[in-house]
Amino acid sequence: MQYPPHLIKLIQVLKKLPGVGSKSAERFAFNLLNWNPSQLHEMADVMREIHAKLKYCAGCGCLREVDTCAFCESPLRLPDVLCVVASARDVFAIESTHEYKGLYHVLGGVLSPMDGKGPDKLSIDQLKKRIARASIQEVVIALDSTLEGDATALYLKRELEPFGVQVSRLAFGLPMGSSLDYIDGGTLARALIGRNRTW
Ligand SMILES: [Zn+2]
Repeated sequence: MQYPPHLIKLIQVLKKLPGVGSKSAERFAFNLLNWNPSQLHEMADVMREIHAKLKYCAGCGCLREVDTCAFCESPLRLPDVLCVVASARDVFAIESTHEYKGLYHVLGGVLSPMDGKGPDKLSIDQLKKRIARASIQEVVIALDSTLEGDATALYLKRELEPFGVQVSRLAFGLPMGSSLDYIDGGTLARALIGRNRTW
């Protein structure tokens, strides 16, 4: 026997979420059937308001809920240091370290020719304009340690050379609490190359 049509629709919607396959979607859908109407309304309201409440800052691409950007318009942030990240979500990861006090620039992804993502699909022109306009002194590239992340970092480094800014990249090294025995060769090699005297 088939599921009722609305349940099938619910499962199909849930399957659109990343990492949710048919089995998980079915489990979530049956769980939702046990929620009371007020809980379901609350969930529907939160979903409906996503676009109205959450916006991306036109200047840096970070997520904001009010009219002002917590970064671009904060007098407490260093105005001449920019951290380049792939997505608005990465900003929260860096903020959670409490180690960075500059501004951000969200690229909107990384270069990925296989997926048709070239430089024109990322906010690289906007980045160059910001650097020129705001007399940025340092650009910190905080991209993933993947083939695409490395290629994008290298591309940015070359593109930003004419601006005379200091371009740095997050160091790659040993995970906290790890033992050398368990580290793969690539990670260990990068940790050796990126070794430093400040520790
Ligand atoms: Zn902003």
